[in-house]
Amino acid sequence: MAKTGGTATVVKNAGSHYLLSELPAWEPFPAVLRGKVRLQKSSSTNPVAVGDRVRYEDGVITEILPRSNYLIRKSTNLSRQAHVIAANLDQAVIVVSLFFPEIKLPFLDRILVTCEVYKIPAVIVLNKVDLYREDAPEAVETFMQIYEGAGYRVIQTSCKTGEGIDALRDACKGRLSLFSGESGVGKSSVIKAIDPSLDPKIGQISLAHLQGKHTTSLYEMYKFSDGYLIDSPGLRGFGLVDLEKEEIAKYFPEMLRVADDCRFVPCTHTHEPGCAVKAAVETGEISSERYNSYLGMLEDDGKFRQ
Ligand code: GDP
Ligand code: ZN
Repeated sequence: MAKTGGTATVVKNAGSHYLLSELPAWEPFPAVLRGKVRLQKSSSTNPVAVGDRVRYEDGVITEILPRSNYLIRKSTNLSRQAHVIAANLDQAVIVVSLFFPEIKLPFLDRILVTCEVYKIPAVIVLNKVDLYREDAPEAVETFMQIYEGAGYRVIQTSCKTGEGIDALRDACKGRLSLFSGESGVGKSSVIKAIDPSLDPKIGQISLAHLQGKHTTSLYEMYKFSDGYLIDSPGLRGFGLVDLEKEEIAKYFPEMLRVADDCRFVPCTHTHEPGCAVKAAVETGEISSERYNSYLGMLEDDGKFRQ
């Protein structure tokens, strides 16, 4: 018997209504949005997003509780209107593979910058390690040095051997994780390895009986092993924000750590004498790959928006 009111989490936007669940219980039920609440946040095209904590009463959402973070996507480059993709994320799990498809580090770095901007802790999953452990062990080593060196957690996984799957499952325990990854990296395989009841490739039917109509929503939440998952359809939707040139370095954690020691403030870490970031790149404390991504973002100023 459904309760008539309380606090719940939005697990799906099903067109005319939402599905809520009182997490950690996984018992989604429908609720609608009252016009008054709907009008409040006019700067975004959707006032309520998956992950939002809301108060509800008699099947009506009455209040949206403050968000710890949220991820937005602009409807177009020029538009001021933003679409909130998801809210209250505990972490972003970014699945990558070194080859097949070949990784593009600047692309990964842009995703990581986006996570920093939105204050969403990022975990990198280096999948398909079975393929390159033998053939290209130095490539794995280099990748680990770059990203662990920058301060990120990297979990090596293989869906073939099962390596790292327990560690990743553990990292997802009790958390709401946004999974993203370029097509072909094995994101679906990783999700399925962690929780065989989920198969992103064949789509989900678990909540279908509550939807009324066949409404496909790009972002919805699933119960995932001992946590919750939002599967992001590719990396594009999870693109980049508008950043001023001077801001970009703040979102490279390893640069932020040393930038206080730059002689000039502000410092673009490009040509200035006494630049602590450049010095750290020279000693190898900051990887040249990450630094090059930073330079690329500076050059692309304004072009890497979503
Ligand atoms: P997605 O597009 O990121 O969801 O990728 P899929 O899960 O569909 O996987 C893409 C391809 O990579 C498939 O042929 C998988 O069998 C393969 N694959 C996935 N994970 C691994 C892995 O850990 N090792 C190897 N060798 N192949 C994998
Ligand atoms: Zn500097």
